[in-house]
Amino acid sequence: MSILIDGKKTAQDIKNEIAARVSEIKQEGGKQPHLAAILVGEDGASQTYVGAKVKACEEVGFTSTLVRLSADVTEEELLRTVEDINQNPDIDGLIVQLPLPKHISVDKVTNRIRPEKDVDGFTPANVGRMTLNWPAYVAATPYGIVELLKRYQIETSGKHCVVIGRSHIVGSPMSILMARNGYPGNATVTLTHSKTENLAAICQTADILIVAIGKPEFVTADMVKPGAVVIDVGIHRIADETKKTGFRLIGDVKYDEVAPIASAITPVPGGVGPMTIAALLYNTLQSAEKKVFG
Ligand code: NAD
Repeated sequence: MSILIDGKKTAQDIKNEIAARVSEIKQEGGKQPHLAAILVGEDGASQTYVGAKVKACEEVGFTSTLVRLSADVTEEELLRTVEDINQNPDIDGLIVQLPLPKHISVDKVTNRIRPEKDVDGFTPANVGRMTLNWPAYVAATPYGIVELLKRYQIETSGKHCVVIGRSHIVGSPMSILMARNGYPGNATVTLTHSKTENLAAICQTADILIVAIGKPEFVTADMVKPGAVVIDVGIHRIADETKKTGFRLIGDVKYDEVAPIASAITPVPGGVGPMTIAALLYNTLQSAEKKVFG
């Protein structure tokens, strides 16, 4: 039977640790950490995500500011808003909720965020620092995965880690983190993507399989080496009339058939997903305490 890597519980543990540290800071007369979020437009999913982040700030004792801009805001106006927050000494962390409307360049906006406040870890400065193994804000999803591996004491040194997907926010940073000299890390990493040949055969050699392909239940049992650790990043809503909501969530891995042969596995929901907000809060606390850039 495989170990269930419980992201929901781990995320709650991290939030409790952060809340305890915030209490200490307040007792020492320090300033509450402060996260600002910019939300452009009325996209339903984005509103839900930002709402959850603001709520999580309250839970751990952070101050939060939500700046809402209409979908037709100009790029210039958005850049000005970013700049205002960059200059605001009370704000420790800034996130711009993606996606942005098509007329706005995500790269331009990301690049305008001061690296010291880039708690999403998306700026070139933070990606570069992470790659060099310097102190950095690591993007929420890869950070969440690293933290799960650490807290579940998964051995990574010398192991073959196969990552499926090379997105800038998940697969690519994950491959770098797993290859770094440290723990978790020191793995021999294969980064696979849409042009990879013989994917199933490569996956079969993985001791640790990290799946961020964005295709529902893509990884089946025949692709997994018995005893492998399987991390499922995917999230998909599928219709389910038996649920009150009318849908249920599934991952990129066919959980029912892979779980029995894996040594450890993250479920969906309740695996990687809940860790991302905890990671964002952690980065904001690091910023408030000047732990990354000094
Ligand atoms: P993406 O769509 O940006 O990237 C998918 C990657 O899969 C691409 O790099 C592509 O090259 C690769 N790919 C496509 N077909 C392939 C194939 N046949 N073989 C090998 N590789 C192939 O996805 P993303 O943003 O990295 O997200 C992946 C999944 O994770 C999605 O389901 C997304 O919803 C989910 N996600 C979850 C969280 C979370 O908090 N749990 C966070 C981010 C993304």
